[in-house]
Amino acid sequence: MGTWLVLRSRTPAWKKYLFPRLTLVGSAIPAAFFSVPSLLRRDWNAALFVLVGVGLFTYLVLSTVRVCDNCGKVAEPRDLNGPPKNCPKCGARLLPFGLSDSRPSA
Ligand SMILES: [Zn+2]
Repeated sequence: MGTWLVLRSRTPAWKKYLFPRLTLVGSAIPAAFFSVPSLLRRDWNAALFVLVGVGLFTYLVLSTVRVCDNCGKVAEPRDLNGPPKNCPKCGARLLPFGLSDSRPSA
């Protein structure tokens, strides 16, 4: 979902700006798709299960995946010890996403 947008974006700054936002949108769509039928059936447990599951997954992705500021590489965690600290491609230090980051101009 939206991965092509991230891959097509020109600069690492853009990639880092887009990645968390697209992850949120890409999670909200299946969450709505799977929870709305349950809500219409008044099956609150099933709806809650879907929303908590998707929410947790989104949180895990955003807290463990990093986008390199320097080269734009998307660095996924290699083990359960949390997010990678350095870029596997260029070795630059990886910083967490900030949803308050301003929109890059380039
Ligand atoms: Zn890098």
